[in-house]
Amino acid sequence: MAFDFDLFVIGAGSGGVRAARIAAGHGAKVAIAEEYRVGGTCVIRGCVPKKLFVYASQYSEHFEDARGFGWSGQENATFDWPTLVARKDAEIARLNGLYIRGLENAGVEIIHSRAEFAGPHELWLVNEERTVTAERILIATGAVPYVPHNVPGAAFAITSNEAFHLKHLPESIAIIGGGYIAVEFAGIFNGLGSRVHLLYRGPQILRGFDDDLRSHLADEMHRKGINILTHAVVDRIDRHDGGAGGYTVHCTNGEEVRVAEVMYATGREPNTFDLHLEKAGVEVAANDAVKVDEYNRTSAEHIWAVGDVTNRCQLTPVAIREGHAFADRVFGGLDIPPLDYSIIPTAVFSQPEIGTVGLTEAEARERHGEVDIYKTTFRPMKHTLSGREEKMLMKLIVHPGTDVVLGAHILGPDAGELAQLLGVLLKIKAKKADFDATIAIHPTAAEELVTMRTKWTPPA
Ligand code: NDP
Repeated sequence: MAFDFDLFVIGAGSGGVRAARIAAGHGAKVAIAEEYRVGGTCVIRGCVPKKLFVYASQYSEHFEDARGFGWSGQENATFDWPTLVARKDAEIARLNGLYIRGLENAGVEIIHSRAEFAGPHELWLVNEERTVTAERILIATGAVPYVPHNVPGAAFAITSNEAFHLKHLPESIAIIGGGYIAVEFAGIFNGLGSRVHLLYRGPQILRGFDDDLRSHLADEMHRKGINILTHAVVDRIDRHDGGAGGYTVHCTNGEEVRVAEVMYATGREPNTFDLHLEKAGVEVAANDAVKVDEYNRTSAEHIWAVGDVTNRCQLTPVAIREGHAFADRVFGGLDIPPLDYSIIPTAVFSQPEIGTVGLTEAEARERHGEVDIYKTTFRPMKHTLSGREEKMLMKLIVHPGTDVVLGAHILGPDAGELAQLLGVLLKIKAKKADFDATIAIHPTAAEELVTMRTKWTPPA
């Protein structure tokens, strides 16, 4: 049977775009369909605009800190939200153009339409009202914000999707959730001048991260003026004057906050709605994620899925790796081993920032029994003159038998940058002795990583 395309990619986000470009480079005839904007969540309404907003929000502290270094006048600085949004939009448009050109230059046909399965090899292009066929198909539709709609009033809340396009900076905001997006946006809105309440249902934000990072970050966020409410399970959200009078968020423990805006940041769910996967024999898990094997192949032999839609690890670089490997394997005939998900460095662009890789202390103790802990908290040099009471945290977790570093956790300026390189060290199973044998760079914060000599012992 002759097909219209060798490969049809559904979704032009990080994973889909990479797979399409690489497959076309191997000589395949490729089409990619996108229902929103080429670039996907990361570029259009995720990682990239978020980081730009983080930079914007940090200036309020930079202006305050400058005083300690002899600067004045910055106290009169003002911030204009529409300018930031417009500047951010221009940059996103530029990146969107680069992505489109990259695909076009590779010979990929871009179809600006939603695509849904009409059969095992058939795709219905909703906007164009026509069907195309493909020998192989890649599902790269990502994930969408999850909002618990069983909570009365939840529909009044925005998600990160809308946060990038608000008309005004809210005077106050309640952010529900305690993960990546909640803490990142709490820092953004707080830095820009909103009164921020973070409502988290559990005992401490950032479940799954090292406990020292979690408590240290919560303390620093409090210090910056963010009101973190834990054990705050949202019961209902009331709207006042059609939203003009703001909203009251009620929690089951009796806590309530009245705010101008409410934002849900309670995770993201695989975007498989109405894709009609059943028409192609593609199985999904209970949480709607596309089931894949270690090579990203679905239950249908000619269909693969990469990135957030598989719900394995919702990180852009993982989707890109999976997409690239898929194209190299299937269209380049290369023998690419399955991706190793065990050591993935990650950063949370909270304020202060988190950079982390490897096992948390709790995971290491569970897996290996006793472990050696090296940790230090200190005031970054900049704050000796700025006067800011903010501490940096560095922590290494070491296997006592082999001396291999199992985990490295940093909270403070540029923690994400440091975690990228620590990722290399953990990947090659560097030992604590290797850290110790490395000459420090002075004066840096990172020198602490190679000068920690005393094992931490819990207080008696
Ligand atoms: P996360 O999974 O990080 O956090 C979700 C949060 O919402 C958790 O605190 C969770 O609580 C809470 N939650 C879940 N369901 C409910 C509910 N029904 N009611 C109340 N609270 C709830 O998701 P995010 O939305 O923050 O981000 C999505 C993903 O995007 C992240 O997991 C990450 O992989 C990726 N991302 C990465 C970034 C980066 O690399 N810097 C930045 C932003 C996003 P609990 O812990 O109790 O389950």
